[in-house]
Amino acid sequence: MGFDREFNRRLIVATAETVIAHADELSELDRTIGDGDHGLNMKRGFEAVLADLDGLASKPLPDLLKAIGTHLVMKVGGASGPLYGTLFLTLGKELPPEPTLDDATRAFGAAVTAVKARGKSDVGQKTMLDVLVPLTAALEKGGNGLLPRLKETAATAAAQTVPMKALRGRASFLGDRSIGHLDPGARSASLMIATICDVLGAAR
Ligand code: ADP
Ligand code: MG
Repeated sequence: MGFDREFNRRLIVATAETVIAHADELSELDRTIGDGDHGLNMKRGFEAVLADLDGLASKPLPDLLKAIGTHLVMKVGGASGPLYGTLFLTLGKELPPEPTLDDATRAFGAAVTAVKARGKSDVGQKTMLDVLVPLTAALEKGGNGLLPRLKETAATAAAQTVPMKALRGRASFLGDRSIGHLDPGARSASLMIATICDVLGAAR
């Protein structure tokens, strides 16, 4: 997969536009079990990413990912900013400029481990990790039709946060009342993954 400037642009624009287009939905989810700002937080972060599009797209993949991570840390705020920031910064540190699938699998695993450390959290607590951890497992499994399967895994995993009780983040303050609602961070993670899979798939 060649990450040239044109392809980087497509990846960045598609991901940012997806997040921005779903900002109201993400905030609505967060209004139900949090403080209602997840969509706005993510929108602010990805608007900063789009404002730096030319600078970002011309960087080698590792630097591009680190720079996105820095924008998200600076602009998203809340709990999700440092966590998504950590995800992208670690991907940038771990990936070579022209990654193979094995490189991507290993780097994603390391990035998810870093998110867990940063959030003092793990799978099963109704957070973005309930999408990121199953995605790591699906990457490790590999096989044919991987991109559609990754997308499907992320969507299913996000939906599986509905019956969970939140044990981390603001939603945990609700205790049992957090049960029965989709986690906003799980939704934003699955949206970004679906978009990235679509762009990677279209390039084949
Ligand atoms: P805040 O909760 O500070 O308002 P956001 O609304 O932007 O931040 O993000 C909330 C999302 O962040 C949650 O839906 C959840 O997925 C994720 N999150 C919160 N705390 C953690 C944590 N400790 N580990 C992993 N993810 C977390
Ligand atoms: Mg919030």
